[in-house]
Amino acid sequence: MKATFNIRIVHDPSYVALSNMPAIGVSEMKDENGSIWTVTTFDTTPKMSTYITAFVVCDFDHVTVTERGKEIRIWARKEAVEKGCVDYALNITGPIFSFLEDLFNISYPLPKTDLVALPDFGAGAMENWGLMTFRESSLIYCPTENLINRKAFVSLIVSHEIGHQWFGNLVTMSWWNDLWLNEGFASYFEYIGAKYVEPKPPLDRMFYESVLQPVLRVEDAMSDRSLSQKEEKVKGTFLPDSLFDIVTYSKGASIIWMLSSFLTERLFLKALNSYLKAFSFSSANQDDLWTHIQMVIDAQDEVQLPASVKNIMDPWTCQDGFPVLTFDPSTGTISQEQFHNIRKKDNTTSYNNTWIVPITWVRNGSSQPIVWLDETSKMFPEMQISSSEHDWILLNMNLSGYYRVNYNSSYLKRIGKLLENNPEVFPVVNRLQLIDDAFSLTESGYLEIESALDLTKYLAKENDIFVWYIILSNLMPNDLECTLKDYEIYPLLKKYLIKKMLPVYHYYAGIIRQNADVLADDYFAETYLEHLLRKACWLGLQDCLDLCSELYAKWMDNPKDQIPAFVRRTIFCYGIAMGSDKEWEFAWEMYHHDNSTTDDKDILLYAMGCTRESWLLHRYMESGVNGSLFSSNNTIFLIYNLAATDTGLRIIWKFVTENWPLLQERFGNAPLYAVLNGMERLVNTDLQIQELQLFYNATLEENERISTTTRLQSAKLENKEKAKLIARVTDWLQKNIDD
Ligand SMILES: [Zn+2]
Repeated sequence: MKATFNIRIVHDPSYVALSNMPAIGVSEMKDENGSIWTVTTFDTTPKMSTYITAFVVCDFDHVTVTERGKEIRIWARKEAVEKGCVDYALNITGPIFSFLEDLFNISYPLPKTDLVALPDFGAGAMENWGLMTFRESSLIYCPTENLINRKAFVSLIVSHEIGHQWFGNLVTMSWWNDLWLNEGFASYFEYIGAKYVEPKPPLDRMFYESVLQPVLRVEDAMSDRSLSQKEEKVKGTFLPDSLFDIVTYSKGASIIWMLSSFLTERLFLKALNSYLKAFSFSSANQDDLWTHIQMVIDAQDEVQLPASVKNIMDPWTCQDGFPVLTFDPSTGTISQEQFHNIRKKDNTTSYNNTWIVPITWVRNGSSQPIVWLDETSKMFPEMQISSSEHDWILLNMNLSGYYRVNYNSSYLKRIGKLLENNPEVFPVVNRLQLIDDAFSLTESGYLEIESALDLTKYLAKENDIFVWYIILSNLMPNDLECTLKDYEIYPLLKKYLIKKMLPVYHYYAGIIRQNADVLADDYFAETYLEHLLRKACWLGLQDCLDLCSELYAKWMDNPKDQIPAFVRRTIFCYGIAMGSDKEWEFAWEMYHHDNSTTDDKDILLYAMGCTRESWLLHRYMESGVNGSLFSSNNTIFLIYNLAATDTGLRIIWKFVTENWPLLQERFGNAPLYAVLNGMERLVNTDLQIQELQLFYNATLEENERISTTTRLQSAKLENKEKAKLIARVTDWLQKNIDD
C-alpha cells in the first residue's frame, strides 16, 4: 500500500533539515522556555512506500548541480566537502540519472535529489526517494586517492541507488517475497550506469568478478533458498532481513543479465518501459513482470522463445540452485542436472530440477545462433566437433547464462593444447569461465582434479591478472597456505609456478619499481596485483622478496614517500618478514604516529604479525593484553591473524593457554575460537583431538565442549580429504613439472 506524506520538522536553527521532497517553507517558533526553533515544511510526496520516507537533520555542507532542470545536492561533513571529496559523486550523479531516464524512457518524477554521506551508517547506502543516504566510504572519493577501483566502487553504489528510484521507489514489489524485483534490478543497472560514467573497467569481467562468480560459489553449497519466495513463507514470523542476501542481489542481477541477453537489449528495455509505466506509483509482483515481457515478445517476430516467458523464467527464480550442463562434443549432446549435490538428490521440486536453458555458444571464434535446452538431455547436430584439433566450441559466451559447463577430460585436453598454442584464441572472459568452472566442478566431483590442472599448463603465456588470480586462488587458497608448506607439494608448486609466473611478475614488478601511477586506470591490476605479489613472495620468488625489502627501506628513509596503496599490505608484510627488529620497530612507531589513518593502522597491525622472529611476535602479543594501546577488537584480530601463520600459531597457542584467565576476563571465549580456527588445520588423529580437548574441557561449558569436539572431528575428516587431494596434485606436478 502506498500513501502521500506531509512532513514538517522542528529543529535547531543551526542545522538544516532535508526530506524526500523540497522544503516549501521555513519559519520560526518559540517553545515554552523561550528557545527559538526552526520549522521546515516539505512539499507533499507522491504516492510512495513508507520504507523509503526519510529525513536528515545535519550541519553538513553541500555542493550543487542542476541536471535537466532539477537540483542535485551532495551533502557531507564540512572538511570532506572542502577537500573536494564529494566532487566525484557530484560529477557522476546527474549523468547517471539522465542516462537511466533515457534508457527507461521515463522521467524521474521528483523535483530534486539529495545524496548524503553519513559518518556512521550500518548499510552501504539506502535509496530513500529523493534523499539517498550513504556510508561515507560509499560516496566520498578524495582527489588524492587516484584509484580507479575506488572510483568504480563509488560509481557502482551511486548507480545502484539511482536505479532504485525506478525499481523499488516508482514501482515497488508487492511483498518482500519478491524483493529481487527491487534489488536484482538495482544490482543489474548499477553496472550499466557505472559503465556509462566509468567506461574503462571491462564491464563483463567486473560483473563476473563481483556478481556472478561469488553467487555461483555460494549456490554450489547452498541451502534451500530460491530467488523468489512463496508469499506465505515471508509472512508471519519470517523476517525480511534475511532476504537481503547475496541470492536476492547477485542471483537476481545474474538472472536479469541472462534475460536481457536472450531477449536482446532492445526488447528487454521495451518490456521494462511497459512494466514501469503500468505500475508507476504502485506495486507489482514477479508475474506482472513476465506478463509485460510476454506482451513485447508477442508483438514482434525477431526473437522466438521455446516457451512462454513465465515457463522459462519461473524455474530460474522459484527453484534453488542452478544447472550444470554436461557437453559431449563428439555427439553434440547437452544434458542438464541441478548442480551438486549428493544430499539434494531426492529433493525434487515442481520443476523436476530442470530449467529451460538459453545456450549462447561460439565455434572457432565466431558466435552462433542461440540454442535452447528445454529437456533433460538433447542432441544438437550443429554442435558436433570434428577430429581436427583446431575445431572447438565453447558454451555460455560472455558468461551470460546462470550455469556451469562441464566438458569431458579429453575435450579439456584439446582446449588446454589450444591455450598453450595461443591463449588469445579465447577471450579473457572465456578463459576465466573455463578455469573457474573446471576447478569448481572438481570440488563437487563432476571432474577429476587432473583435468583442471591440465588447463594451467599454458600459464606462462597468460598475462591477464584476473585470470592469474582465479588460478592462484584455486591452487593455493589462502586458508591452505600453511598446510601446503608442510608437504612436498610446496617445492613442486614453487618450481611449476614461478617459471610460468615470471613474465607477468616482471612486467608488474617493473611498473611498481618505476611508476605505479600508470596503473591508475587499470581496475584489475589495482584489485588483484597485491594477490599476485603475495603469492609470488609466498612461493619464495627472490625478486619479490627483494622488491618488498627495497620498497620498505625506501619508505623507512622517507615515510612521506608512500608505497602504492594497492600493494602496501604485501610490501609491509614481507618488508617486515625479511627484516629484523629495526623494520618491526619502525612499523610500531608508524602505527602510533598521529598522521596514520585507520587504513594505515589496519595494514600495519596485520604486517607486524608477519615477522619471522618468535620473540617479536611474543612481545607483540604481550602488548595485546598489557598495553593500553590495543582495543579489544585489535587483540582478537591479532590472534586470528597469527593463528593463520606457521610461526604465529605456535606462539598464539602458548600465549592463549598461558594467559587464559586474563584473556577470558577481557574478551570472553572469543580467543578460544580464534585459536581453534588455526588448530583445526593441524588435527589429523584422535590423539591430537584429545590433547586439545584437555584445554577446552577446562575452559568451556559443556554444550560448547561438545560443539568443539564436533568441529575438531570434522576438521580431522576434512584434513584427510585435503591430504588425498594434495597427494594427487603432487603426483600431477611431478609428471608435469618440466613441461
Ligand atoms: Zn539496493
